[in-house]
Order: sequence, then structure tokens, then C-alpha cells
Amino acid sequence: AKANGRNSWNVHDPSETDPAINRMRLLGELRHGIETKQLRVHYQPRMDMSTGTINSVEALVRWEHPTRGLLQPIDFIDLAEESGLIRDLGTWVLQEAIRQGTHWAQTSPRSEPLGIAVNLSTRQLLDPHLVDTVATALERYDFAPGLLTLEITETALMENPATALQVLTALKSLGVGLAIDDFGTGYASLTYLKDFPIDELKIDRSFVSGLGSNDGDNAIVQSCIQLAHAVGIRAVAEGVETDHQRTTLLTLGCDLAQGYHYSKPLTPEHITTWITPRQS
Ligand code: C2E
Ligand code: CA
Ligand code: CA
Ligand code: CA
Repeated sequence: AKANGRNSWNVHDPSETDPAINRMRLLGELRHGIETKQLRVHYQPRMDMSTGTINSVEALVRWEHPTRGLLQPIDFIDLAEESGLIRDLGTWVLQEAIRQGTHWAQTSPRSEPLGIAVNLSTRQLLDPHLVDTVATALERYDFAPGLLTLEITETALMENPATALQVLTALKSLGVGLAIDDFGTGYASLTYLKDFPIDELKIDRSFVSGLGSNDGDNAIVQSCIQLAHAVGIRAVAEGVETDHQRTTLLTLGCDLAQGYHYSKPLTPEHITTWITPRQS
């Protein structure tokens, strides 16, 4: 940097612009952020389409960065995945979501306890400790395994199908539910649906958003729902934004739906308010 004033070190500081250095910095901050509890979990309602009531919530991680503000997964998930930090991050999210889910199960007056869905990345799926991590978290909070759904993308399953099958089978034997996330964006979908012990198929938002305006998307969504039902699992639509999309999905027999039409991801406090009946 040239010495030409008080802020001179900022003017030509290469670390300001070099993406590799920025990534290193962010990675260090993320590691520190996980340790010092800067991560948060927000929850997006998953609605039962036939009753119009909340069935479960999907845990979505956020990072309350001390100076950069509230960061979204797009700002740091890839970095966590590539660096391996996703293991610590993912374990934290899993434990936190189960802790919160246990709290809701114990305090909410609902007759049906609220289910919790948690995302797993490719690296988490292929982590030899994953099954132990999930089992330990369930035991620690005495959380009913049937209330937990693990969402795994089609892409992650295809990374190493043989290992994926073993891991899914072991997870299944814990009693947890399994979902294929972003369904339709990968390629070998049909084979996996047949071979993997899956409970739920989440139709990717890119198809749901074209419902009503794009004949191809209508056909794809309809086929996904029929396919799910043909193999005896439920169909979940993600990214439902309009009432027209909702009614179309209802007509097609879709089981669950989530999206901004119902609610954006909310803080745990907002979910508590949502599931607590109003007094008046
Ligand atoms: P995803 O699992 O497909 O999650 C759905 C994403 O779509 C979320 O973004 C959600 O906020 C957003 N979304 C929901 N409804 C709508 C809608 O109606 N319209 C639009 N435009 N968007 C909608 P978010 O929270 O930014 O998460 C992005 C991705 O980051 C997730 O995609 C998931 O792949 C990943 N992710 C989030 N949390 C975790 C986590 O704890 N662990 C792992 N491994 N991945 C996570
Ligand atoms: Ca998901
Ligand atoms: Ca998804
Ligand atoms: Ca998606």
C-alpha cells in the first residue's frame, strides 16, 4: 500500500480484492463463528395440503456475523462444504434443530407433535460418523426418530450411490425419515427411488415455479407426484409462491408444500407463536 494518508493501507491492499484471501478470511471467521455460537437456525413451515395446517418445519441455517450482518447459506455453505467445516456446522444444526424440536414437542398444545427436517450435504452423507452423530443427537434429547426427516439432494446421492445406499439403510434403521431434496435436478432419479429407502420426494422449486405458466413444468410436477405415490412415498412441493400454484398442487394430490405463499423461514420464536393457539 502507498503511504499517502490515514487510510492509505486500504487503497491498494491486495487482500481487499483477492478472492482467495477473502475466502481464507471468511473461512477463519466461520470457524470462529461456529465456536462462538454465531449460527442461527430459521424454520420454514411445511404445510399439510389437505388440512392446510403446519405439519413440520425445515431447519435452514443462518450466520449472524458480527460485522457483515445476517448471512444466508449461499454466502457460506459452499465454503463450509469445500473446507470440511460442514461437519461441525451440520452437527451443530442437527443438534440445535432436535433440541428446539424437543422443546416444541414438550410445550406445544398441538395433538400432533411438529416434525423437523434437516438438510445434509454431500460431505455429511459420506462422513463415516454421520449415523453415530444422528443417533447421539436423538438420544441426547430423547427425540422421537420418526419426527426427524433428513433431506439429501439427488446430487449428493449420486456422488457415491453404493455408499449412499449403505448410509441411508443405517439411518433408516434408526427410525428417521429420509427425503430426496431438489428432485428432478439430478439424473438417475428413477433407479434411486426404487433402490433407496426413501420416504419423501421434494419437487424442486424450479418446476413448481412454472406451474400454471409452463406446460412442461406442469407435466413434470404431475409426474413427480404420481411417481412418488406409485412407490408409496409422499410428495412435497418446495417454493410454492402463489395461490394458483397451491390449488394446482392440491388438485394433483401433492401431500406437503412449503414456500413463501405460506411463510418464509422464521425464527424459532415466530414458529412458537404460529403453533400456539391464540387466546381471544
Ligand atoms: P434447500 O434445502 O432447497 O432449501 C430451500 C431454500 O429455498 C431455502 O433457502 C428457502 O429459504 C428457499 N425458499 C423457500 N421457499 C421459497 C419460495 O417460495 N421462493 C423462493 N424463491 N425461495 C424459497 P436458504 O435458506 O437460503 O437455503 C439455501 C440452501 O442452503 C438450501 O436449499 C440447502 O441446500 C442449503 N442449506 C440451508 N441450511 C442448511 C444446513 O443446515 N445444512 C446444509 N447442509 N445445507 C443447508
Ligand atoms: Ca432442503
Ligand atoms: Ca430443496
Ligand atoms: Ca431446491
